[in-house]
Amino acid sequence: MGRLLIIGCGGVAGVAIHKCCQNSKTFSEICIASRTKSKCDDLKEKLEKTTETKITTAKVDADNVDELIALIKDYQPDAVLNVALPYQDLTIMDACLACKVDYIDTANYEPEDTDDPQWRAIYEKRCKDEGFTAYFDYSWQWAYQDRFKEAGITALLGSGFDPGVTSVFTAYALKHYFDEIETIDILDCNGGDHGYPFATNFNPEINLREVSANGSYWENGHWVETEPMEIKREYDFPKVGQKDMYLLHHEEIESLAKNVPGVKRIRFFMTFGQSYLTHMKCLENVGMLSTSPIMYEGREIVPIQFLKALLPDPASLGPRTVGKTNIGCIFTGKKDGKEKTIYIYNVCDHQECYKEVGSQAISYTTGVPAMIGAALVLDKVWDKDGVFNIEEFDPDPFMDMLNQYGLPWVVDENPQTVE
Ligand code: NDP
Repeated sequence: MGRLLIIGCGGVAGVAIHKCCQNSKTFSEICIASRTKSKCDDLKEKLEKTTETKITTAKVDADNVDELIALIKDYQPDAVLNVALPYQDLTIMDACLACKVDYIDTANYEPEDTDDPQWRAIYEKRCKDEGFTAYFDYSWQWAYQDRFKEAGITALLGSGFDPGVTSVFTAYALKHYFDEIETIDILDCNGGDHGYPFATNFNPEINLREVSANGSYWENGHWVETEPMEIKREYDFPKVGQKDMYLLHHEEIESLAKNVPGVKRIRFFMTFGQSYLTHMKCLENVGMLSTSPIMYEGREIVPIQFLKALLPDPASLGPRTVGKTNIGCIFTGKKDGKEKTIYIYNVCDHQECYKEVGSQAISYTTGVPAMIGAALVLDKVWDKDGVFNIEEFDPDPFMDMLNQYGLPWVVDENPQTVE
């Protein structure tokens, strides 16, 4: 029995909230708080007849720490689930710290304004010291470790699918299948088709920033950076089929490199069709992916935010998306002195997700683990003081709940590997 404050009411939040309402024993009360309160009210109205969970709503600007503190003091939650945007991670963590309340999120901190000189100076030093140029990294949130520990509260970072489930798959493989993991290939395949010439499956701004950036992977103790989409492989995904996939930088590589002892290489691949890549390149070439403000007819606009306004809302893709996702990890390593390779993955069907919760599979595969992470923190199954990535907790209860709440997984002990 517990009380969860959920911040954000977009695609991922919608699924997480549906799933909390299927688990009223843990989530006896939830408050949905976001910038646009009407979205929270609409969801409340839709769900309250179907669940024993008591739902309230609130308006909050999550960029404003004082507003967040006032809301937390008023609602008195046991934990806060951040499913707004990565821009709000630090303000929400600050508010949780001030009120001594546990914190859960699905994506690491990234600044909204990448031209801010103070942030830029720290970023440029990090690029030099660490060797990767992505705008996001864990250093900002790991810096809260001592303060969360002293306050006696938990921050659970990255409770989505990737990061999230892929990280828990890693902890599970290490616990049950390997003495030592040598390589990890994380494969993210979306075999779905929404019928639009171009759309993104989650927040367009965050998504396009991620996939247009340089690629990188971890090898022998350091980062190797590539040009965007420089490394391409083909893979025959179970239940989806043959797809092209490209190496990207992805945030869980950073935490897994720290948390998997002796790991030699970690790579992340995502599938893209040629049409998606051609659209993205064209938008990039004309400056539409830029995060730097420009003046247009006397007012300042940020090109990528303007593009977001033109693109379909990811939350609206549910009814039109058909096909399946397949996301998982291939591990190589040793058990009892013998070489071993396994592949742990989940297959999720877009239309089945839509029938159950009204969303496509990308929001579903992120929203379900967000609920599971929040449940394990609320029920004190995962209870450590400080800031932790999800692979630092016991994977078993999370793996059981994936099967229970709609994301069953498969272990293949003889998989095709990636060159
Ligand atoms: P959406 O854009 O659909 O939703 C974001 C929500 O946050 C909206 O309701 C928005 O409000 C709200 N919001 C934005 N800014 C503020 C603010 N200042 N104050 C209060 N509320 C605010 O995004 P998604 O649902 O697609 O993504 C949510 C999170 O999930 C992101 O952090 C994303 O990176 C992460 N994610 C993680 C994945 C993983 O596997 N780990 C995969 C996919 C996404 P409004 O409605 O007014 O715009």
